[in-house]
Amino acid sequence: MAFEPPTADVERAGVGDRAGLSPVLRRAFSTDASEFEPIPKPGPHDWLAVHLESGQTFDEFKASHPNRPSDSRCVIYLQPLGDFPADRSPAIEKLREFASAFFAIKVKTLPAISLAGSKSTTRHNPNTGNLQILTGDVLDFLKARVPSDAFCVLAVMMEDLYPEPSWNFVFGQASLRESVGVYSFARYDPAFYGEQRTRGYATLLLRRSCKVLVHETGHMFGLAHCTFFNCLMNGSNHLAESDRRPLHLCPVCLHKLQWSIGFDVLERYRALERVTRADGFDDEADWLSRRIEILCREADVKK
Ligand SMILES: [Zn+2]
Ligand SMILES: [Zn+2]
Repeated sequence: MAFEPPTADVERAGVGDRAGLSPVLRRAFSTDASEFEPIPKPGPHDWLAVHLESGQTFDEFKASHPNRPSDSRCVIYLQPLGDFPADRSPAIEKLREFASAFFAIKVKTLPAISLAGSKSTTRHNPNTGNLQILTGDVLDFLKARVPSDAFCVLAVMMEDLYPEPSWNFVFGQASLRESVGVYSFARYDPAFYGEQRTRGYATLLLRRSCKVLVHETGHMFGLAHCTFFNCLMNGSNHLAESDRRPLHLCPVCLHKLQWSIGFDVLERYRALERVTRADGFDDEADWLSRRIEILCREADVKK
């Protein structure tokens, strides 16, 4: 059966019981807020036309006993792998800042490691000839050196990836059980497809890289793909679909992440607004300003 966008009742059921929460949290998780766009009906090549996902409600998320940060395992580590040439790569520090604001927990960058240093298998793609790294080898490398205070370790790289010889490529891969993942930003650069890098491409590349980083890290917290709203946690089958997703979470996914981490939603929105404004993601920063204003009114505090 084809995917049908959910009704208001389904959205409300998705977010779970809000009784007993503070007024700010109740408002933050309200599905009636006009700041959240409905999930669009999928086109023929879009994720939900190809993958029949039924979604994950807040209650189902909780019942899945997802990994949660604890006092002893509370740091997200970024492991740069290979070169990040300044003229065609997102700045690692920018990625770290964004992830840190997004999850409101400590994000640290590990010293960069060369591709040779990771001892990963490489190949030249049989069709395109570009260099690719075998994901399983990178994950094995990470598993062997997870810092003791790590919630998860995520390798990021500018080289392309493949999961097994019969595959053409993969954007990334993770092991939730081992809390390690590897993601490539190679295919977020227009030049990868032989297209011109237009003005503003650095912002576009950074935005795409931030988006994939926090989406995939969201999976590390046990968040499944979202089918309730237009949301960062929507699945995506291709770059155009991924570009349509916002950088923010819908009320259902925000409730999940807040339950997991326990952050102050207003403080988190403020930190994200600062970072997105500085990074030039103006539409997101404006969206966050509106949310902050609404939640401040609810909290009845001075801005
Ligand atoms: Zn995903
Ligand atoms: Zn969502």
